[in-house]
Amino acid sequence: MAQSDEEEGISATCHCGAVTLRLSRAPAEVTHCNCSLCRRYGTLWAYYTKAEVTILSAQPTDTYAWNGRHIDFHRCAHCGCVTHWYPRAESRDRLGINARLLEPAVLDRARVKQADSGGTGLFH
Ligand SMILES: [Zn+2]
Repeated sequence: MAQSDEEEGISATCHCGAVTLRLSRAPAEVTHCNCSLCRRYGTLWAYYTKAEVTILSAQPTDTYAWNGRHIDFHRCAHCGCVTHWYPRAESRDRLGINARLLEPAVLDRARVKQADSGGTGLFH
């Protein structure tokens, strides 16, 4: 067991391993958002400040932006996994990482918050 590694930080990786997100801590809460994009991606988001995340990518990620283009949604250019979203403005410090890329045991310990951003009324 690499117990000491786990204590130093948590990693989220895409399927092929080209993109690794090093996190300063495990998420206490993840957000299940049902907006038109997130429900298609099937993501769970964990939010961090820029200082809490180190993004390691073997090659440039592909991106997608919509709805004002304030943030870019990044995905691995090789395996296609959605990895994170990142704000375009320097002044915005919050980013989201796709918690589905965490080890299942790490994700299991997080509370799931339902965000009804799609306004469907399905979440209460
Ligand atoms: Zn990949």
